Formats: sequence, C-alpha cells, structure tokens
Amino acid sequence: MAFLSDAVSRIKPSPTVAMTGRAAELRAEGRDIIALSAGEPDFDTPEHIREAAKAAIDAGRTRYTAVDGIAELKQAIADKFARDNGLEYNTDQISVGTGGKQILFNALLATVDPGDEVIIPAPYWVSYPDIVSLAGGTPVVLPCPADGGFRLSPEALRQAITPATKWLILNSPSNPTGAAYSADEMRAITDVLMENPHVWVLADDIYEHLVFDGFRFVTPAQIEPGLIGRTLTMNGVSKAYAMTGWRIGYGAGPRELIRAMAKLQSQSTSNPCTISQHAALAALTGPQDYIDSSRAAFQRRRDLVVKGLNECPGIDCPMPQGAFYVYPSIADLIGRVSPNGTRITDDEAFAAALLDETGVAVVFGAAFGLSPHFRVSYAASDDMLREAIGRIRRFCEGCQEQ
Ligand code: PMP
Ligand code: GLU
Repeated sequence: MAFLSDAVSRIKPSPTVAMTGRAAELRAEGRDIIALSAGEPDFDTPEHIREAAKAAIDAGRTRYTAVDGIAELKQAIADKFARDNGLEYNTDQISVGTGGKQILFNALLATVDPGDEVIIPAPYWVSYPDIVSLAGGTPVVLPCPADGGFRLSPEALRQAITPATKWLILNSPSNPTGAAYSADEMRAITDVLMENPHVWVLADDIYEHLVFDGFRFVTPAQIEPGLIGRTLTMNGVSKAYAMTGWRIGYGAGPRELIRAMAKLQSQSTSNPCTISQHAALAALTGPQDYIDSSRAAFQRRRDLVVKGLNECPGIDCPMPQGAFYVYPSIADLIGRVSPNGTRITDDEAFAAALLDETGVAVVFGAAFGLSPHFRVSYAASDDMLREAIGRIRRFCEGCQEQ
C-alpha cells in the first residue's frame, strides 16, 4: 500500500514557488542571478501598515482570533467592496484567510466532489488546477491564446459548460498574462453564466488595483448583480499593498459557502496571523496613496519590458492591461540551438537554458498551461530590468537554426 495519499499524488509542487526558490539557491551559490520569476511586488510594505503591526504586538494583540477574521477587518473588507466594486456584503458573508491562496483552497475543497468540473481558462495561475485535483474534481482547461488577447470568449465558455460544471475561475487582471476584461467583455461572460444557473464563478481579483492606461477594473458580480448568490469574490492585500509575506487574503460570497470555508479553516490553520490582520486593517482603512504610486511604477516598467522584449529576435510580447507580468511567445525560437548548444525544444528548455547561460530566471509557459511562452514578472528595479533584457537579447541573438 502506498504511503502517500492518492490526493497528494495527484498534485505537483507550485512551479512559481519552485522557480523562485531555485533562483534564490543559485544566488546563494554566488551566481549572478536576476530573478524575474517571483510574483510579488519588490516594494516594502508602506510604513503606516508596518507601524500598525508593531502597535498590535505592543497592545498584546497576539492571541487567537475568530477563525475567519476579526470583526473590524471584516467590516473594513465590506467597506472596501462597497467603495471599490459597488458590492454590498454583510460581515457574515466575508472570510479572511492566510492569503488569497487559502481562500481559493477553502472554497474549492468545500464545494468540489469527484466528478465535478471546474472551468479554468489557460494560461492560468498555477495553483487552480492542482487545488481542483486535490479536491478530486476535474479541471477543464480552456486554451485562450494570444490572438484572442488571452481572454476567454463567451462561445468557448458556453461550449465548455456541462451539467457537471461547478465553477468558472476567472482571474482579471491575469497571472501570468496581465490580460484584463473590460466591462463589455465581462458582460459577455456573465450573460453566459446567467444562461447556466448551476455554474458558480470564482473571481480572483487580486490584481484589481494594478491596471494601466486608465483601464477600468470590473468584477463579475458588479457587472451582473444576478450572480451575487453564486459568486465568490476573492481579493487580498498581497499585491495591492506589497504584503505578500503577511499572508492575508479574503473572499466574499453566500453565507452557506462562507460558513463551510470557516469550518474547514477551523480544522486546519485556524485564524490567519493576528498581527497581520491588524496590519491588513490599517492597509484597507489608511491612506491609499501607495496604490497609485505602485501602479505608476509598474506601468513604466511594463512599457520598458514590452518594448525591450519585442526588440529580442524570436520573441513576440503582447501589451498587457494589468498585473506585473508579461507573457511573450517564443514560437520563433523553438527548434533553434542556444548560444551554449542547448536545443530549445519547448518553453521549459528555453527557460532552463536562459537561466543556465544568462542567470535570468523566468517561469516557462507550460506551468501555466499555454505554450510556447514564458512569464516575466517585472516587479524589479528599472536597472535590473534593463540588464535582464540586455541578457535576454544577447541570448536570443545567439540562438541559431540548425
Ligand atoms: N491569485 C493569483 C492570481 C495570484 O497570482 C496569487 C499570488 N500568488 C494569489 C491568488 C494568492 O496570493 P496570496 O496567497 O499571497 O494572497
Ligand atoms: N502568485 C505568485 C506567482 O505566481 C506567488 C507564488 C505562488 O504562490 O504561486 O509567482
């Protein structure tokens, strides 16, 4: 009898986490590594948030709290949904977890049984299919290539829905492409969901505030209030306030779902870190100017990276609307041989050769379910990005046909 469970054998370690770890290891060995693999802002958490955490410690706020979050934080989250998204939630419709990741995990574990299907547009954030598989469900991956702007079309969604469909997971702006849905595009998707009342939608809005060129962010339940009874709107402080390490995410949805998620959490991690909850409270209720300054920095870096990558022979880099990723194609490099003699058979071979030969760490497209691409996280200084692009350009220039 196998020692490890079938459930855990169905999943793999998170490739984004693994790549970030690999880059850190190589750097510790003394290699000159530029890591464009980590999906986290490179800024420090704003000072008033750090101060709130220190004050929480000094005030003795160091004990267990209610399993899915303190009342003040839930109220601040309800206020945030009303302010930013026009969504009205009571505090008993809100769940706070250890990162957005735990919210997704709880929601899927609480609702997905063997035989249930979950529609996941690809490229997707790496954890969606694995969490669905862990729950025993079937991820139904729908390829959404670059020529459709990496967005799910209403026709593709309509065709993919079966009586077994439980959820659609929609992530806008997207990790790894940065693609975001306009109000009209979102309306086309929510119209299909309205035709299919058994399908729930899990909206991953974690990159909400990182949208560029005046793009207006929208979330499904805001565009179609008729979906409110079968939507989980997920968000968090990791990306909005440079708080990835604090581990606070949240979701809002129907009470029955929220209660089931709290039940799971009560039997696993219990409450998210008390000190971090107080920090998140300060983030949501305090000055919001960090959001604008980080948006401006990321827009400048996006422009620098898209232009620089499009100057690399063999790379084609679409312009994203949001997040801090680009997802260029390397279709023209497949089959070539790298400067040090590695055949680039696929995007995994490309990323491995790039890391080995130039020290630039990126994540290969197959990890996100759509090849041949790679993901660049441009959450790095402008100087680092210029240096990385120079290395990538020289690498591409040295790739030969054979
Ligand atoms: N969703 C997406 C699309 C993400 O990129 C991330 C960041 N890894 C998360 C959810 C979860 O973030 P966290 O757990 O830090 O809130
Ligand atoms: N969301 C980030 C990324 O995609 C963090 C790592 C993870 O949790 O996957 O790189």
